[in-house]
Amino acid sequence: MLQEIRDIITRGEKFLITAHIDPDGDAIGSAFSLYWVLESLHKQPCIYLRDSLPYMYEFLPRPQRVAHGEIPEDQYDAVFALDCGNLFRVGKGYEKLKEMGPVINVDHHMTNEAFGTINVIDPDASSVAEILYRLYKTMKVAMTFNVAINVYTAIFTDTGSFRYSNTNSQAFLICEEMTRSGVAPSYVAQMVHESHPKERFLLLGLVLATLETHKNDTIAMAMVTQEMFRRTNTSKEHTEGFVESVKEIRGIDVAVLLREITGNQYKISMRSKGNSDVASICNLFGGGGHRNAAGCTINGTIVEVKDRLKEAFKIE
Ligand code: AMP
Ligand code: MN
Ligand code: MN
Repeated sequence: MLQEIRDIITRGEKFLITAHIDPDGDAIGSAFSLYWVLESLHKQPCIYLRDSLPYMYEFLPRPQRVAHGEIPEDQYDAVFALDCGNLFRVGKGYEKLKEMGPVINVDHHMTNEAFGTINVIDPDASSVAEILYRLYKTMKVAMTFNVAINVYTAIFTDTGSFRYSNTNSQAFLICEEMTRSGVAPSYVAQMVHESHPKERFLLLGLVLATLETHKNDTIAMAMVTQEMFRRTNTSKEHTEGFVESVKEIRGIDVAVLLREITGNQYKISMRSKGNSDVASICNLFGGGGHRNAAGCTINGTIVEVKDRLKEAFKIE
C-alpha cells in the first residue's frame, strides 16, 4: 500500500492534503509534514483544514498554501484524508472530495470506515504521523527540520505527551530520530503546554466550578458554555487540555467535557484510563475515536444532553 502511494506521488504533481475539523496536533503535524515532503520533491501540495489552527500550533513551520473555510476545488493527482475515521470529519462539502481525485485515507482510528480509494489504517499506530513516517521511509526522503518538527509534535500531542496507552516503542524511536534532525523536545513541550494566555485559566476556573462526579467518583463531568467564553474573552481553542485535566483526579476512569456549541447542541469530549472504552459510548451518539479518547456531538438542551449521557453511562 505504501509503495502504491509512493508511486502515485512520484507520477503526480498536484495534491490536496486534508484532515478533520477542529484540528489537533496529529491532524496539523501530519498534514504539514506531508506538505513539506511533497514540496521537497518539487510537487504542488495544498492543505485544506476547515478550521484555523489553535494558537498552540502556530509555532509549527507553516506551509504557504493552507486554505480554511471552503475546500479549494480543483483536480488533484490524489486527495490525502488524514486522521479522519469518516470522510465527513473533513467538514462541509466533503462529498466533493471524491470527484477531485483518488482519496488516500491514512488513519489510526479503530472505527475507520475505509472510505478511500486507497486505505492505510493502522489502529496500533500512535498517530497518523507514525504511519506517514513509514511512507517517508519507503520514499527515502530526507527528514528535514520542517518535516521532523511536525512529525514530532503530532506524535507528542496524540500520545498525550507520551502518557496514553497508544505510546508505543515506535513513537519513541521516531521521536528520537526527529531530535537528531534538530527538534528540541523542551521547545515543543513549551510551545504546546506553556504558551497559554492568562484568559484560558480564568475560563478553566469557571469550568472546574461545574465539575461533578458520579458512580463513586469514577466518572467526572464538566461543562463549558458560550457565556463562559464571553465572560473570559476566550473561545473553543482555549479548552484544549481541559478534559485531560479532569482525568487527573485519582480514581476517575472517565472524564467528560460538554462544550456548548449552541443552546441546542453540545460537543462532547471523553477521555478514559485503562480499559474503559469511550469510543463505544461516543459511537452511540454517532461519534467515534479511540478507546481512551473519543468525541461526539449531541443535540438537545443541556438537561437533555446530560440525561442522555447519564443513561449511556448507566448513572442513576
Ligand atoms: P476530541 O474530544 O475532539 O479531542 O476528540 C477525541 C478523539 O475522538 C479524536 O481522535 C477525534 O478524532 C475523535 N472524535 C472526536 N469527535 C468525533 C466525532 N464527532 N466523530 C468521530 N470521531 C470523533
Ligand atoms: Mn485527531
Ligand atoms: Mn490522530
